[in-house]
Amino acid sequence: MENSTYDIDKYRRDFPILSRQLFGKPMVYLDNTATTQTPRRVVDAITEMYFTHKANVHRGVHTLSLEATELMEEARRLTASYINASSTEEIIFTRGTTEAINLVASSYGSLLKEGDEVILSVMEHHSNIVPWQLLRDRIGIKLKVIPMTSTWELDMEEYRRMLNPRVKMVAVTHVSNVLGTVNPVGEIISLAHNHGAAVLIDGAQAIAHLPIDVRALDADFYAFSAHKMYGPCGVGILYGKKHLLESMPPYQGGGEMIHKVNFAHTEYAALPYKFEAGTPDFVDIAAFREALGYIRSIGIENIAEHEERLLRYTTERMKLLPRVRIYGEAPVKSAVISFLVEGAHHYDTGMLLDKQAVAVRTGHHCAQPLMESLGITGTVRASFGLYNTFEECDRFIAALTRILTML
Ligand code: PMP
Repeated sequence: MENSTYDIDKYRRDFPILSRQLFGKPMVYLDNTATTQTPRRVVDAITEMYFTHKANVHRGVHTLSLEATELMEEARRLTASYINASSTEEIIFTRGTTEAINLVASSYGSLLKEGDEVILSVMEHHSNIVPWQLLRDRIGIKLKVIPMTSTWELDMEEYRRMLNPRVKMVAVTHVSNVLGTVNPVGEIISLAHNHGAAVLIDGAQAIAHLPIDVRALDADFYAFSAHKMYGPCGVGILYGKKHLLESMPPYQGGGEMIHKVNFAHTEYAALPYKFEAGTPDFVDIAAFREALGYIRSIGIENIAEHEERLLRYTTERMKLLPRVRIYGEAPVKSAVISFLVEGAHHYDTGMLLDKQAVAVRTGHHCAQPLMESLGITGTVRASFGLYNTFEECDRFIAALTRILTML
């Protein structure tokens, strides 16, 4: 089953938390969509920042500050190269995907006019819905929503019909955090561009599972979070095309984002600092270098292939179980399995899995409009990462089988 060059035992040893026991059993962590675990080298880098290089960045002439600045800026260079951005000016550090999307909705959004249209999809996470609703309430834009087909894919015919010259922005997720559907973002972007609309891709669920090349995609904005890619919490990334970022007003005002201030007038700093008001989370940003290096050392293609095998293996076994219904079986799918046990509340199924040391997520997964369209209130969601094993899939299936006899 396992590709012999994929050294999973070695990778697992990089994550101390994976050796935890729960209720006397080895923990099976299948909540990678919510957050991934952190390898030792990332945590070591955080410690090293605190113990060796901690000083505020960008303004200092002293050695410590120059070191901290260099480590933060190295993270920016590595991020730019990881997603194939044209320059580091296009990489804005934020607190997470949520803040990155809010930045675009607020700043790029302020350039829109009443009656302009923004297209979202039914699969969006609340963080790619609510910021656009705030904008709608502020300036009177119209929101339109791409529906889904019976094959759990975005309805591209309907999307084509929605496009018109009033559409100024299309904001869609690359991978659904509930269904695992990998959306055809390249096609979505080129169709939007044909109609003069910009495109923001929510990459939170794609970045650790697929190779991402923002220039090949021709994405205008691409947002993701470090904590979902084996990196530290508190760091997000907004990629934006330079000419668009230059045309946009600042999102927040304060220190770091200015060139010159007097009470009559402020000149803003150049990119990317114009969008990074206040002291950034330079400790975690610097440690993010190690997460990027870690993924690179294994290879995102190898990770994707491993997760695809886990997905197929687990899905086939789940389909043999009676009373289990999977939500999300798109032909191109990431390693996320949402499901319900007939007659059982998702919360109960999740609790019973937890008692067998299997960590899954239950609930609406911050996608209530999607739940509503499916006519359910939530699902149980098992999601996989680079360190999950086939044996863990077996333990999950065994736990689920046991639950079926109980419920
Ligand atoms: N978009 C998607 C598709 C997500 O899955 C998530 C996290 N669950 C987010 C956005 C928000 O990410 P964060 O909470 O790190 O800002």
